[in-house]
Amino acid sequence: MDLAAQKRRVGEGVDARAAALDRLALEIHGHPELAFEERFAAEGLTKLLASEKVDVRRGVGGLETAFVAEAGAGEPVVAILGEYDALPGLGHACGHNLLGTAAIGAFLALRDAADGMRGRIRIVGCPAEERGGGKVFLIRAGVFADVTAALMYHPGDRDELDPLMLAMVSLEIELAGKAAHAAAEPYEGVNALDGLLLGWNAMSAMRLLIRSDSRVHGIITDGGKAPNIIPDRAAARLMVRSPDNAYLADLRRRVLACFEGSALATGCTLKHEWSDVCEVVTTNRPLAEAFAANAKALGRAMQPRRPADTHGSTDMGNVTTVVPGIHPFLSITDGPVPGHSIAFTEAARSPRALETMHLAAKALAMTALDVLADPGLAKRAKEAHNGHKI
Ligand SMILES: [Zn+2]
Repeated sequence: MDLAAQKRRVGEGVDARAAALDRLALEIHGHPELAFEERFAAEGLTKLLASEKVDVRRGVGGLETAFVAEAGAGEPVVAILGEYDALPGLGHACGHNLLGTAAIGAFLALRDAADGMRGRIRIVGCPAEERGGGKVFLIRAGVFADVTAALMYHPGDRDELDPLMLAMVSLEIELAGKAAHAAAEPYEGVNALDGLLLGWNAMSAMRLLIRSDSRVHGIITDGGKAPNIIPDRAAARLMVRSPDNAYLADLRRRVLACFEGSALATGCTLKHEWSDVCEVVTTNRPLAEAFAANAKALGRAMQPRRPADTHGSTDMGNVTTVVPGIHPFLSITDGPVPGHSIAFTEAARSPRALETMHLAAKALAMTALDVLADPGLAKRAKEAHNGHKI
């Protein structure tokens, strides 16, 4: 079978499974689960694989809701990634109900179409993208150690080949003061809430002075227990982001200094913890070009990055640091709809979203076929990746 025929077969394979994929995507949408708790989704996704006699390994990297399955033998190894966690209060406002399902559609269709070809295809079920960096655990567990190309897509409001996904780090801030009766003996207390607010305001003032491509944002998670007690504890959770690793390091220092200063001013004790480090997504140009050609054949013209466009951050960035990879966006809306909004949650269960999920599964599988069929593509992807290494 030639490559064109194999690609047609991939399309037929996804179409044949469309009803099952749609059902599962809508079920996961109706049953949103937070990072590391995606038991319903992981169960549904792995069951669908098992129903087609795929041997699934669960609990990979010490994560209960992670899974990996493989087909084929030898090199190259193409990984297709899926996510399935949701957001607190908003449900599937990032459309991850369409990600694990697309990966499964791609994997199953590819397994049939690539029968007899050299190389392996690996589906990687990735928990905890919204918080916790699930892929970082999987990288550590060696899931990507032998991978030639790591492919995924993400639902969006524009067909964008090379989105700017920022480097990010989370910061937990905790100020400890001393409780006292707020009316009787306030002078006996040390006000942790005032300490936190002072630091918060310093951080807010600083935001006017930082690069416009970088972000600092957060929430206050503890502001005291009762209005008649001087708060002895106050806490906040912040995120710091930038497309520039060196600038991010500088921002980290400046944000922390706001709270070090406010702790000193108010006599509080500061505790802090950095976590959830996401790296910038490095789109692999040869793989992205192959994906764009396949998407075009399916009727989608991928657009380049627009300078003013910003997105969030993703642990796929960490994967693209380790191996060649892509993270294009495919539109599930008719016009601009912000991610992490109720409107996007609604869009993530629309007919257009499901149709895009089928297209994504096909385009991912066709791109995987390109890597399996053309050693030159794998070589160019590797060269481009090594060229990106700092
Ligand atoms: Zn997302």
